[in-house]
Amino acid sequence: MPQASSTAGSLFMVVAPSGAGKSSLVNALLEREPAIKLSISHTTRQPRPGEQHGREYYFTSVDDFLAMRDADEFLESAEVHGNYYGTSKIQILDQMKAGTDVLLEIDWQGAQQIKKQFPNAIGIFILPPSIQALEERLLKRGQDEPHVITRRILAAGGEIAHAPESEYVIINQDFATALSELTAIIKAARCRFAQQAARNAALFAQLGIHAPLS
Ligand code: 5GP
Repeated sequence: MPQASSTAGSLFMVVAPSGAGKSSLVNALLEREPAIKLSISHTTRQPRPGEQHGREYYFTSVDDFLAMRDADEFLESAEVHGNYYGTSKIQILDQMKAGTDVLLEIDWQGAQQIKKQFPNAIGIFILPPSIQALEERLLKRGQDEPHVITRRILAAGGEIAHAPESEYVIINQDFATALSELTAIIKAARCRFAQQAARNAALFAQLGIHAPLS
Protein backbone atom coordinates (compact mmCIF):
# COMPACT_ATOMS: atom_id res chain seq x y z
CA MET A 1 0.00 0.00 0.00
CA PRO A 2 1.42 3.46 -0.84
CA GLN A 3 2.55 5.67 2.03
CA ALA A 4 0.91 9.08 2.24
CA SER A 5 4.32 10.75 2.21
CA SER A 6 5.40 9.11 -1.04
CA THR A 7 2.79 11.08 -2.98
CA ALA A 8 2.08 14.76 -3.40
CA GLY A 9 -0.98 14.47 -1.19
CA SER A 10 -1.17 14.25 2.59
CA LEU A 11 -3.57 12.30 4.74
CA PHE A 12 -5.00 14.31 7.65
CA MET A 13 -7.01 12.89 10.53
CA VAL A 14 -9.04 15.33 12.63
CA VAL A 15 -9.98 13.79 15.97
CA ALA A 16 -12.00 15.34 18.82
CA PRO A 17 -14.60 14.58 21.45
CA SER A 18 -18.19 15.45 20.49
CA GLY A 19 -18.82 19.14 21.13
CA ALA A 20 -15.27 20.38 20.52
CA GLY A 21 -16.43 22.11 17.34
CA LYS A 22 -14.62 19.77 14.95
CA SER A 23 -17.18 19.72 12.13
CA SER A 24 -17.59 23.52 12.07
CA LEU A 25 -13.82 23.94 11.89
CA VAL A 26 -13.46 21.34 9.15
CA ASN A 27 -16.30 22.87 7.11
CA ALA A 28 -14.74 26.33 7.36
CA LEU A 29 -11.34 24.87 6.37
CA LEU A 30 -12.85 23.22 3.28
CA GLU A 31 -14.36 26.54 2.19
CA ARG A 32 -10.90 28.11 2.38
CA GLU A 33 -9.06 25.14 0.93
CA PRO A 34 -11.40 23.50 -1.58
CA ALA A 35 -8.62 21.27 -2.94
CA ILE A 36 -8.77 19.14 0.20
CA LYS A 37 -11.07 16.18 -0.16
CA LEU A 38 -13.17 15.32 2.90
CA SER A 39 -13.86 11.63 3.19
CA ILE A 40 -17.58 10.92 3.63
CA SER A 41 -17.90 8.10 6.14
CA HIS A 42 -20.51 5.39 6.39
CA THR A 43 -22.49 5.29 9.63
CA THR A 44 -25.34 3.32 11.12
CA ARG A 45 -26.54 6.26 13.24
CA GLN A 46 -29.76 8.07 12.35
CA PRO A 47 -29.41 11.32 10.37
CA ARG A 48 -29.75 14.51 12.45
CA PRO A 49 -32.18 17.18 11.25
CA GLY A 50 -30.71 18.75 8.11
CA GLU A 51 -28.16 16.01 7.43
CA GLN A 52 -28.20 14.51 3.94
CA HIS A 53 -27.22 11.06 2.72
CA GLY A 54 -23.98 11.41 0.76
CA ARG A 55 -23.16 14.86 2.19
CA GLU A 56 -22.46 14.43 5.93
CA TYR A 57 -22.47 10.63 5.82
CA TYR A 58 -23.64 7.62 3.89
CA PHE A 59 -26.38 6.50 6.28
CA THR A 60 -26.32 2.74 6.23
CA SER A 61 -28.22 -0.10 7.90
CA VAL A 62 -26.34 -2.27 10.39
CA ASP A 63 -26.67 -5.27 8.06
CA ASP A 64 -25.22 -3.38 5.09
CA PHE A 65 -22.43 -1.94 7.23
CA LEU A 66 -21.42 -5.34 8.56
CA ALA A 67 -21.55 -6.80 5.04
CA MET A 68 -19.18 -4.07 3.84
CA ARG A 69 -16.89 -4.66 6.80
CA ASP A 70 -16.84 -8.40 6.14
CA ALA A 71 -16.03 -7.72 2.48
CA ASP A 72 -13.01 -5.67 3.64
CA GLU A 73 -14.36 -2.51 2.06
CA PHE A 74 -13.29 -0.23 4.94
CA LEU A 75 -9.87 1.30 5.47
CA GLU A 76 -10.86 1.58 9.13
CA SER A 77 -14.05 1.18 11.12
CA ALA A 78 -15.12 1.46 14.73
CA GLU A 79 -18.09 1.46 17.06
CA VAL A 80 -18.53 4.96 18.51
CA HIS A 81 -21.29 5.95 20.96
CA GLY A 82 -23.22 2.79 20.09
CA ASN A 83 -23.14 3.16 16.29
CA TYR A 84 -20.78 1.91 13.61
CA TYR A 85 -18.66 4.31 11.56
CA GLY A 86 -16.23 3.50 8.77
CA THR A 87 -14.08 5.00 6.01
CA SER A 88 -14.53 3.21 2.71
CA LYS A 89 -11.39 2.27 0.79
CA ILE A 90 -12.44 3.22 -2.74
CA GLN A 91 -11.95 6.96 -3.36
CA ILE A 92 -9.46 7.43 -0.54
CA LEU A 93 -6.77 5.25 -2.04
CA ASP A 94 -7.40 6.60 -5.55
CA GLN A 95 -7.31 10.19 -4.33
CA MET A 96 -4.12 9.66 -2.41
CA LYS A 97 -2.48 8.07 -5.43
CA ALA A 98 -3.59 11.08 -7.49
CA GLY A 99 -1.83 13.37 -5.02
CA THR A 100 -4.96 14.88 -3.46
CA ASP A 101 -4.92 15.96 0.19
CA VAL A 102 -7.48 13.83 2.02
CA LEU A 103 -9.02 14.67 5.38
CA LEU A 104 -10.69 12.12 7.64
CA GLU A 105 -12.93 13.13 10.55
CA ILE A 106 -12.67 10.04 12.69
CA ASP A 107 -12.43 8.87 16.30
CA TRP A 108 -9.25 7.72 18.07
CA GLN A 109 -9.85 4.05 17.24
CA GLY A 110 -10.02 4.82 13.53
CA ALA A 111 -6.97 7.09 13.80
CA GLN A 112 -4.96 4.25 15.32
CA GLN A 113 -5.98 1.92 12.48
CA ILE A 114 -5.04 4.51 9.85
CA LYS A 115 -1.65 5.17 11.48
CA LYS A 116 -0.79 1.48 11.21
CA GLN A 117 -1.38 1.58 7.44
CA PHE A 118 -0.13 5.13 6.84
CA PRO A 119 2.50 6.04 9.45
CA ASN A 120 2.86 9.48 7.88
CA ALA A 121 -0.81 10.37 8.30
CA ILE A 122 -1.03 13.62 10.25
CA GLY A 123 -3.21 13.59 13.38
CA ILE A 124 -4.80 16.85 14.52
CA PHE A 125 -6.64 16.75 17.85
CA ILE A 126 -9.25 19.44 18.63
CA LEU A 127 -9.67 20.18 22.33
CA PRO A 128 -12.42 22.26 23.95
CA PRO A 129 -11.22 25.16 26.14
CA SER A 130 -12.80 23.42 29.17
CA ILE A 131 -15.00 20.45 29.98
CA GLN A 132 -17.82 22.88 30.87
CA ALA A 133 -17.59 24.47 27.40
CA LEU A 134 -17.84 21.03 25.81
CA GLU A 135 -20.98 20.17 27.78
CA GLU A 136 -22.54 23.55 26.98
CA ARG A 137 -21.88 23.12 23.26
CA LEU A 138 -23.44 19.67 23.22
CA LEU A 139 -26.52 20.86 25.10
CA LYS A 140 -26.90 24.01 22.97
CA ARG A 141 -26.56 22.12 19.72
CA GLY A 142 -29.81 20.41 20.70
CA GLN A 143 -29.62 18.01 17.77
CA ASP A 144 -29.43 14.82 19.80
CA GLU A 145 -31.73 13.15 22.31
CA PRO A 146 -30.85 13.88 25.98
CA HIS A 147 -29.61 10.30 26.57
CA VAL A 148 -27.36 10.57 23.52
CA ILE A 149 -25.90 13.86 24.82
CA THR A 150 -25.26 12.28 28.24
CA ARG A 151 -23.52 9.34 26.60
CA ARG A 152 -21.28 11.66 24.57
CA ILE A 153 -20.38 13.80 27.61
CA LEU A 154 -19.41 10.65 29.51
CA ALA A 155 -17.33 9.44 26.54
CA ALA A 156 -15.47 12.75 26.12
CA GLY A 157 -12.80 11.91 28.72
CA GLY A 158 -12.05 8.62 26.98
CA GLU A 159 -11.55 10.35 23.63
CA ILE A 160 -9.46 13.16 25.16
CA ALA A 161 -7.16 10.58 26.76
CA HIS A 162 -5.98 9.80 23.21
CA ALA A 163 -4.91 13.37 22.41
CA PRO A 164 -1.20 12.49 22.89
CA GLU A 165 -1.43 10.18 19.84
CA SER A 166 -1.90 13.17 17.52
CA GLU A 167 0.94 15.24 16.08
CA TYR A 168 -0.92 18.53 16.52
CA VAL A 169 -3.34 19.92 19.09
CA ILE A 170 -5.69 22.85 18.56
CA ILE A 171 -7.56 24.37 21.50
CA ASN A 172 -10.85 25.64 20.12
CA GLN A 173 -11.43 28.63 22.37
CA ASP A 174 -11.68 31.25 19.66
CA PHE A 175 -13.04 29.91 16.36
CA ALA A 176 -11.03 32.25 14.08
CA THR A 177 -7.77 31.43 15.88
CA ALA A 178 -8.47 27.70 15.77
CA LEU A 179 -9.29 27.91 12.06
CA SER A 180 -6.09 29.78 11.25
CA GLU A 181 -4.10 27.19 13.22
CA LEU A 182 -5.77 24.34 11.33
CA THR A 183 -5.08 26.08 8.00
CA ALA A 184 -1.44 26.62 9.02
CA ILE A 185 -0.98 22.91 9.76
CA ILE A 186 -2.36 21.98 6.33
CA LYS A 187 -0.16 24.53 4.58
CA ALA A 188 2.95 23.42 6.46
CA ALA A 189 2.28 19.79 5.58
CA ARG A 190 2.11 20.75 1.90
CA CYS A 191 5.55 22.35 2.12
CA ARG A 192 7.31 19.20 3.38
CA PHE A 193 10.12 18.16 1.09
CA ALA A 194 8.51 14.92 -0.10
CA GLN A 195 5.21 16.61 -0.96
CA GLN A 196 6.88 19.51 -2.77
CA ALA A 197 9.17 17.15 -4.67
CA ALA A 198 6.26 14.97 -5.77
CA ARG A 199 4.13 17.97 -6.79
CA ASN A 200 6.94 19.80 -8.59
CA ALA A 201 8.93 16.93 -10.07
CA ALA A 202 9.86 18.82 -13.26
CA LEU A 203 11.13 21.89 -11.37
CA PHE A 204 13.12 19.79 -8.92
CA ALA A 205 14.71 17.89 -11.85
CA GLN A 206 15.55 21.15 -13.66
CA LEU A 207 17.14 22.54 -10.49
CA GLY A 208 19.06 19.32 -9.96
CA ILE A 209 17.49 18.65 -6.57
CA HIS A 210 17.55 15.02 -5.54
CA ALA A 211 15.74 13.38 -2.65
CA PRO A 212 18.03 12.95 0.35
CA LEU A 213 19.22 9.40 0.89
CA SER A 214 17.29 7.89 3.79
P1 5GP B 1 -21.15 12.06 14.94
O1 5GP B 1 -22.17 11.01 15.21
O2 5GP B 1 -21.20 13.17 15.97
O3 5GP B 1 -21.21 12.59 13.53
O4 5GP B 1 -19.71 11.38 15.10
C1 5GP B 1 -19.42 10.68 16.26
C2 5GP B 1 -17.95 10.28 16.27
O5 5GP B 1 -17.68 9.35 15.22
C3 5GP B 1 -16.98 11.43 16.04
O6 5GP B 1 -15.89 11.29 16.94
C4 5GP B 1 -16.52 11.22 14.63
O7 5GP B 1 -15.23 11.74 14.41
C5 5GP B 1 -16.50 9.73 14.55
N1 5GP B 1 -16.50 9.26 13.16
C6 5GP B 1 -17.15 9.80 12.10
N2 5GP B 1 -16.88 9.11 10.98
C7 5GP B 1 -16.02 8.13 11.35
C8 5GP B 1 -15.36 7.09 10.63
O8 5GP B 1 -15.48 6.92 9.41
N3 5GP B 1 -14.56 6.26 11.35
C9 5GP B 1 -14.38 6.40 12.69
N4 5GP B 1 -13.56 5.54 13.30
N5 5GP B 1 -14.98 7.35 13.41
C10 5GP B 1 -15.79 8.21 12.74
